[in-house]
Amino acid sequence: MNELRCKVLVIGGGPGGYVAAIRAGELGLDTVLVEDGQFGGACLHVGCIPSKAIIHAADAAHALTEPLALNAIGLTLTAPTLDFAKTIAWKDAIVARLATGVGALLKKAGVRSLRGRATIVDGKSAIAHADTGDQRIVCEHLVIATGSEPMALEALPFDGEDVLSSTEALALTEVPKTLAVVGAGYIGMELGMAFAKLGARVTIVEALPRILPLYDPELTQPVARRLADLGVKTLVEARALSFAKGALKVAGPDGSETTVAADKVLVAVGRRARTAGLGLEKLDLAMAGPFIRVDARSATSMRNVWAIGDVTGEPMLAHRAMAQGEMVAEIIAGARRAFDHRAIPSICFTDPEVVVVGLAPEAAKAAHGEILVGVFPFFANGRAMTLQDDEGFVRIVARADNHVVLGVHAVGAGVSELSAAFALALEMGARLEDVAGTIHAHPTLSEAFHESALKALGKPLHI
Ligand SMILES: Cc1cc2nc3c(=O)[nH]c(=O)nc-3n(C[C@H](O)[C@H](O)[C@H](O)COP(=O)(O)OP(=O)(O)OC[C@H]3O[C@@H](n4cnc5c(N)ncnc54)[C@H](O)[C@@H]3O)c2cc1C
Repeated sequence: MNELRCKVLVIGGGPGGYVAAIRAGELGLDTVLVEDGQFGGACLHVGCIPSKAIIHAADAAHALTEPLALNAIGLTLTAPTLDFAKTIAWKDAIVARLATGVGALLKKAGVRSLRGRATIVDGKSAIAHADTGDQRIVCEHLVIATGSEPMALEALPFDGEDVLSSTEALALTEVPKTLAVVGAGYIGMELGMAFAKLGARVTIVEALPRILPLYDPELTQPVARRLADLGVKTLVEARALSFAKGALKVAGPDGSETTVAADKVLVAVGRRARTAGLGLEKLDLAMAGPFIRVDARSATSMRNVWAIGDVTGEPMLAHRAMAQGEMVAEIIAGARRAFDHRAIPSICFTDPEVVVVGLAPEAAKAAHGEILVGVFPFFANGRAMTLQDDEGFVRIVARADNHVVLGVHAVGAGVSELSAAFALALEMGARLEDVAGTIHAHPTLSEAFHESALKALGKPLHI
């Protein structure tokens, strides 16, 4: 068997792994990256990018069918038609373009990339099973970045036809007439809303008492209202039991059974670490449940074995994986770094969008005692009105004693783009006075952030 020697071996070319490899290459470390599928991982091929492309297409299609909103700005249209196969081809072209870009960046950084499944032999070597034959790779540092995969329900195994994971739902070439979404976390909600806007009759089935259960109810109420406007039926405290011939059987909170019409069922109940067949048992790693346990440096319990991204558990987000990947490469190159979880934005690209950075009021109170909270609604924001969407608000949470910002949250159209300002405030240790003293451009949605800080300081201007 061929043997390849390197300083850093990265297994998995998703956002965690490819960023780790690029940074390691840029820092002059001899780096090999092994990827089983395609560079870019779940995020680029079956996650962040394809879902946001479909959400954009759904928003565009839906905007043309909202006569009240269109009439208000003087537009009348005849009914549009949608060629969904073309939508999917457009989405695939974006993915292909970005994937080519990742390949070029790896090459530019001097990374040796191999396509094939890697199995770990020990903490210093692995075998890549490539089309061209097996290759043994010996390294000084092993970075595990194998990501995650959709979790099935025992009662509803994926069949690739009707019971789908998000991966297959994002590849449908026809909009189903009826769709049941099992699981009202962010993936189920984003895709469920998008398919409703594309014309599917959607039912959401959630075991907990409300949608987006990991977000606080104040933030999710506008999303629930929009769901109702879109005609999406939501069954909470409900359990999906079985599926046959276009019908999903569901048990309600009292145990009574109902049937939901569903040409397709999207099961979005979570993702699990992708470690099957990796050879993890060859290492003596401490685990955190099904995930690899890491410390603040993303170091595992074995020296010079690192793990990053979804394989290390929540929050399973592409930007967290990338930040860990960049950090690990720099640590291997000799830098002193540690990961700070305080300012990781989490976004639901629902309608309206939801952004959470840092601590919610309850958690802030529990951790820091007395707090200040400022909420500014978009109905008092001129830009939101001109965009015909003034639902939602920005909320800032700060310590009462020194005014240091602990969290910023928002719900509203387009608030995902405000997340950078929120994260920066937390990352820089901003106080309310820093946000209040920053000149925010007018008219923009970001003025709601400014005003939330003014409000927390007891001196609002526009409300
Ligand atoms: C529908 C959907 C929407 C999402 N939207 C967002 C979003 O808007 N924002 C966000 O931040 N996150 C989003 N995510 C989550 C995001 O995709 C993940 O957090 C991110 O991809 C994790 O990156 P990773 O590098 O850890 O793993 P992955 O992206 O899962 O990449 C791991 C890679 O490792 C490869 N691999 C696995 N085992 C082996 C092996 N043995 N040998 C070689 N290669 C191997 C896989 O083929 C894969 O390419 C979404 C996910 C889904 C499913």
